[in-house]
Amino acid sequence: MSERVLEGMCQTALDRAAPILRPGNTNCGGCGMSIGLQMLTHAVAERPVQMVIPACCAIVTAGQFPFSAYGAPVVASTFASAAAVATGLAHAARINAEATRVICWAGDGGTYDIGMATLSAAAARNEDILYVCYDNEIYANTGGQRSSGTPLGASTTTTPDGKDVAKKDIVAILAAHRVPYAATLSLAHLDDVLRKMRYAIDATGFRFLHMLSPCPTGWKSEPAEGIELVRLAVKSGLYPVYEVFDGVRTTIDVEPEFSDESLRRYFELQGRLKKSATNLAHVRGDIERSWRILRHRASLEV
Ligand code: SF4
Repeated sequence: MSERVLEGMCQTALDRAAPILRPGNTNCGGCGMSIGLQMLTHAVAERPVQMVIPACCAIVTAGQFPFSAYGAPVVASTFASAAAVATGLAHAARINAEATRVICWAGDGGTYDIGMATLSAAAARNEDILYVCYDNEIYANTGGQRSSGTPLGASTTTTPDGKDVAKKDIVAILAAHRVPYAATLSLAHLDDVLRKMRYAIDATGFRFLHMLSPCPTGWKSEPAEGIELVRLAVKSGLYPVYEVFDGVRTTIDVEPEFSDESLRRYFELQGRLKKSATNLAHVRGDIERSWRILRHRASLEV
């Protein structure tokens, strides 16, 4: 292997002049995951990091060894093992007295479904890792099958008539492990994203971030409208922006307008939802119920 290749591989996260996701990668235009990785670059700044990325679009874009689209060291793991691999790296860093922070960057398939066992185990042991789920609500890198993150009514290759069950409440599941920190990220509120990412990188114990990640390919939406879609999801109340400390103390960070117009626009702008027979009044009812639960949690004195 040439010295130049080795040098490139060893250009670790100590050199944050390099973005975590380099230009020229193969992600689709308008991919929310790309924006999330740019925000992670800003949040990480000079901190040394190691990343674990399971099977998902984010590892497809990495390219082929020995070249990489990433400006940080990355371990490509199987769908099921990301949190376990990250646990091993975090323990090695601790034993070697390294300041390295270990970050899992995984899609919804690897988080909600296939990686749930190791994710839950790492959370239950309160491993010192940051796990970020970029949720494009579909198995985007394998042809667009439904995942447990796919929302009610969305058509996918395996739910052509629209999914008939709601998505899992993944943040509530992780918070139920009483992890030190769990939060949602809205790409339409970048100051909030940066604050939470920085907090989560520096905190100790298990931290979980969930990011709604527009996927123009799977959502059948315009690449330029991704951020607007997230804004509509937040405005309508569909995507609550909040954080949970130690599994109980809950803070709501953005107050929605709960407007029917934003919910209608959210559905209209996406081909996967446009033909859906899902009744918007039903979705509105689900939103109201989940917000009653969230407000109750936020009101608890703990
Ligand atoms: S398929 Fe979706 S998630 Fe994957 S790179 Fe393209 S836009 Fe991003």
